[in-house]
Amino acid sequence: MRFSNTLIPTLRDDPARTDVASQRLLLRAGFLRQLNAGIFTWLPLGFRVLQKVEAIVREEMQRINAQEILMPFVQPAELWQESGRWEQMGAELLRIQDRHERDFCLSPTHEEIVTDLFRNNVRSYRELPCTYFHMHTKFRDEIRPRFGLMRAREFIMKDAYSFHLEESTLDKTYWDMYEAYSRILDRIGLDYRSVEADNGLIGGSSSHEFQVLAEAGEDVLAFSDSSDYAANIERAEARPPATRPEAQESMEKVHTPNAKTIESVADLLGLDATRCVKTLIVQGQESLVALILRGDHDLNELKAEKLPGIRTPFQFADPNDIENSLNCSIGSIGPVGLEIPYYVDRDAAALADFVCGANEDNYHYTGANWERDAHLQDIVDIRNVVEGDLEPNGTGRLLLKRGIEVGHIFKLGRKYSESMRVAIQDQEGATIAPAMGCYGFGVTRTVAAVIEQCHDEAGILWPESIAPAKVHLISVGADRSPEVGEAADKLYQLLQELNVEVLYDDRAERPGVKFADADLIGIPHRVVIGSRTLKEGVLEYRFQRNETEKISESELKNRVSASSIH
Ligand code: ATP
Ligand code: MG
Repeated sequence: MRFSNTLIPTLRDDPARTDVASQRLLLRAGFLRQLNAGIFTWLPLGFRVLQKVEAIVREEMQRINAQEILMPFVQPAELWQESGRWEQMGAELLRIQDRHERDFCLSPTHEEIVTDLFRNNVRSYRELPCTYFHMHTKFRDEIRPRFGLMRAREFIMKDAYSFHLEESTLDKTYWDMYEAYSRILDRIGLDYRSVEADNGLIGGSSSHEFQVLAEAGEDVLAFSDSSDYAANIERAEARPPATRPEAQESMEKVHTPNAKTIESVADLLGLDATRCVKTLIVQGQESLVALILRGDHDLNELKAEKLPGIRTPFQFADPNDIENSLNCSIGSIGPVGLEIPYYVDRDAAALADFVCGANEDNYHYTGANWERDAHLQDIVDIRNVVEGDLEPNGTGRLLLKRGIEVGHIFKLGRKYSESMRVAIQDQEGATIAPAMGCYGFGVTRTVAAVIEQCHDEAGILWPESIAPAKVHLISVGADRSPEVGEAADKLYQLLQELNVEVLYDDRAERPGVKFADADLIGIPHRVVIGSRTLKEGVLEYRFQRNETEKISESELKNRVSASSIH
């Protein structure tokens, strides 16, 4: 690849309106261009990286006997109506019409299509279990496309789907996928963790996410400091608190003018937020429902959404509705005498002598106690864990870190096979709906995740596994001394004959420009040919940001071939 005839539009300055390093560097180093919010064109260097990620993913899918297919991007509404998702999916599903005014959508995922394919073509138990995968474009009209490739609207996913007669083979395929994802991320060279994930409203069976650790990640992960426990904060649990102490105080109503938040109430009363409870009001299926937490804890909406009687999708109540039905404003609500159903988080339920709203504007109770002053029935876990919490089944403490979700594996059960009436004959000739698994891997998001982990001030630092080329060859002063150009051309030729991928910067640019571009682009092995080193009979060589060395051509061959080829 000669720089002079490859589209590598590097930018001298940081582009405007970028929020993460991967987005900034992909644009600056000339790998990517944005066409529209969350929609991108991959330029030659970027496309090479993408193809390398795809190749690794493909090999690992083939290793576990998944069959590669290619399913359509434009999908008829009928299939989505059958599964019920045409109605359930909100604006993330981009709907279009053809010339006959028939409804279609741009595919955000392929469960419906693969289930339809399966039911029309597979009839017998003998063909099961089976796994199909494809690597293709998805479109999700994300409410806030941002962070470049990390939350795009159009992106590439590898998605795989498996079909099973028995749970045992679903379990095996699930763990094969788990291993395959681990191998993919190990081969790329990422620092990642697999964590227990929320199953959505399907519930029941397992789900794991593969999270690349990075500050720019949108997800928060909880890890134990002393065991393997790791979960997305959406799902993470802490050990339940110890039993509640005895009541010591009597309940008193106190005036708390304008104290509408836990912080202001705690300040006013000279107490810690951990001694207060907060009462949040949400939409229930029949009435408003209150959720009561310890003052310093945050509500976990996904946990709350799964409770009986809570409306899905989860929604906080409208402040006007609250005032109308409870006769006081949000900051003054509490469990004492509360006339709507409520759930109490386990840690709030373990408090004695606590502070809570008095259901009257500008008043709170101090010294309130469960049972004596307020009913305590539905004790649940509805909070986000915090750092320092005890892990669920051990003595370790939880730590929190940020991650980028690059993969998600999921046991679907029979959700689609039942709603779409898939029938397979088992050994006895009875027809049953197969169990399914689905396994997504964000190919384009992974490229961004790599950069989030592998960059410095000057630019990207590609791991060799997916670098756009192995060697970045730079000629310096070839315009002034033709022998430099000849020597560089010759080395370029030689490396190509050795099947080493090279980006050859043969441009008539100043050395400073070429070096700055090389730093930005981040190809691991850099070789410079200039008239001085040429006279000395050596090459100037540098691996990533290590010290520059002078080495011979044969030593270069060693360095390049010694580096791992996956
Ligand atoms: P998220 O919670 O980040 O929206 P998701 O749960 O919607 O992800 P899945 O439906 O499980 O994601 O999709 C599988 C994989 O596709 C994700 O693990 C991620 O790597 C990738 N992915 C999902 N949404 C996007 C997006 N908007 N941009 C880029 N990649 C995405
Ligand atoms: Mg999503």
